Amino acid sequence: MAKVVVLGAGLGGTLAAYELVAQIGPSDSLTVIGQGPTWHFVPSNPWVAAGWRDRDEIEVDLKKVMADKRIAFLPQGAKRVHPGENRIEMTDGSSVAYDYLVIATGPDLAFDEIAGLGPDGHTQSICHVDHAEKAHAALETFAAKPGPIVVGAVQGASCFGPAYEFVFILDTELRKRKIRDQVPMTFVTSEPYIGHLGLDGVGDTKSLLESELRNRHIKWITSARVQHVDDGKMAVEEVGDDGQVKKTTELPFGYAMMLPAFRGVSAVRGIDGLTNPRGFVIVDKKQRNPKYPNVFAIGVCVAIPPVGPTPVPVGVPKTGFMIESMVTATAQNIGALLRGAEPKAEPTWNAVCFADFGDRGVAFVAEPQIPPRNVNWSSEGRWVHFAKIAFEKYFVRKIRRGKSEPFYERWVMEGLGIRRLKQTR
Ligand SMILES: Cc1cc2nc3c(=O)[nH]c(=O)nc-3n(C[C@H](O)[C@H](O)[C@H](O)COP(=O)(O)OP(=O)(O)OC[C@H]3O[C@@H](n4cnc5c(N)ncnc54)[C@H](O)[C@@H]3O)c2cc1C
Repeated sequence: MAKVVVLGAGLGGTLAAYELVAQIGPSDSLTVIGQGPTWHFVPSNPWVAAGWRDRDEIEVDLKKVMADKRIAFLPQGAKRVHPGENRIEMTDGSSVAYDYLVIATGPDLAFDEIAGLGPDGHTQSICHVDHAEKAHAALETFAAKPGPIVVGAVQGASCFGPAYEFVFILDTELRKRKIRDQVPMTFVTSEPYIGHLGLDGVGDTKSLLESELRNRHIKWITSARVQHVDDGKMAVEEVGDDGQVKKTTELPFGYAMMLPAFRGVSAVRGIDGLTNPRGFVIVDKKQRNPKYPNVFAIGVCVAIPPVGPTPVPVGVPKTGFMIESMVTATAQNIGALLRGAEPKAEPTWNAVCFADFGDRGVAFVAEPQIPPRNVNWSSEGRWVHFAKIAFEKYFVRKIRRGKSEPFYERWVMEGLGIRRLKQTR
């Protein structure tokens, strides 16, 4: 009669719940705690901001899917996890007890760390579909009176792919509107070089992305630290390899989108032994917290150290396939514990990514995502744009149907040599 609870119903949490259905016994219970009744395909947010997607195309009503799969779904959100008491305090004052907990709460967006940053300040965001809709409304206003654009990712950010996607998507959209000639564009990033991506590059992403920026007349600033943002002005410091400020620039803009740094959500931040100082959940090779071994974590909320020192802090991205590998390992490990066995599954943390530029794109495969790697491949072309659209349709359908990894997906991925789990003995 074990109680299994998944906290967070985003990309990782929803898939974890689907996989746990097959792992629990008839007398066990499975509960998912979300924040609101719907699920969104986060990778489509840049398209929502460009006006290429409507919200309902990427949204799924979780209440219905969860009910069909007999998963209890609590959309009111959690206030605080109490791991010493095996209990979650909910926002409505109730409590949810658990025997096994999967934390999948994604990021808290740290806009407040830079004055004037974010949708409540002077820059747009594409991290959430609500932000992306707001960013689209601002784009329409901007298009009526074009000016300079600044796009990028601030110090401490860990998610760089969507910033590149958005700057290229904007370029494509402005060319379609025939106003690109009125818009100087600058890409501002904390990465030490273009294409670093928080991963010290994958394959040839440095040359591919530099060349794409050059071809599209987009200037860039690397090792950038955003000091503050005012209405139409961003103060940016460029930091040298010695950590000293080389140059300070004030960038004017009519439209800006900057990805913030991430930290752990308030429901888990500051719990000794569960989370690190930034609020990310500490896990071992089996996605299990060492101090609270009945607690697992998956996705962006997991603590992963940076790949190496950089002049400006840069985090490691947690990408979709990497998260799916965490999901499968966690579901199998909880299944093993429920059957009285030792958890053995270890995720590969492999990464397979499509970055769309609106008309073409860059794909990469990193096995594992953190270097040094066995596979380190990237490629560029029109096919990536179409592959990303196909992937979006496939993924949203998968969530609507309550499936995590249909057999044909496993078959194709294994055929390509891309696995979710390490081959352990
Ligand atoms: C704009 C953008 C584009 C991206 N594009 C790609 C891509 O193309 N390819 C790729 O591989 N990766 C991409 N990523 C990275 C990654 O795949 C996504 O961020 C993914 O959504 C992360 O999944 P997650 O489950 O960790 O977090 P999320 O999907 O963010 O889910 C976390 C969930 O937890 C909920 N939650 C938080 N706190 C609580 C609480 N207290 N109580 C209840 N629920 C709570 C949140 O509401 C949310 O629903 C992208 C990321 C961003 C931001």
